[in-house]
Amino acid sequence: METILVSACLLGDNVKYDGKNNYDEKVEALKEIYDIVPICPEVFGGLPIPRVPSEIKNGSIINKEGKDVTHQFNDGAHKVINIVNFLHIKKALLMDRSPSCGVTKIYNGRFNGTLIDGMGYTAQLLKEKGVKLYTIDTIDELINDK
Ligand code: SF4
Repeated sequence: METILVSACLLGDNVKYDGKNNYDEKVEALKEIYDIVPICPEVFGGLPIPRVPSEIKNGSIINKEGKDVTHQFNDGAHKVINIVNFLHIKKALLMDRSPSCGVTKIYNGRFNGTLIDGMGYTAQLLKEKGVKLYTIDTIDELINDK
């Protein structure tokens, strides 16, 4: 079976900033047709669970307390890229709106709940690497792309 990456929070892992997850039962169908490697770039980068939420502002990632966590996000993203290289991954299902995993939308960097068009830090690197990105909204394409 082909191996794909999936944001760990979508699989039900409690890795979100608030210690919860974004489980979606639609991921169950994927388990029949793909080998799944769960990733959480923020945890890979050494950030704790729970953690202060972060947003992207002017190319840097700043947490809600004003601390620059770009270094940790960069570390985590590169660990994901290492997995992609090692396993020859071509597809990833990612959690939209996240500053790491967002594919179509992210928050605007002001912590006021406003979404803008944009990609998370890891998602951007994956795209540059040629990995095809999907979200829960496009999961049917990922299933049919098999
Ligand atoms: Fe989920 Fe990605 Fe955020 Fe980890 S970094 S909690 S996998 S959206």
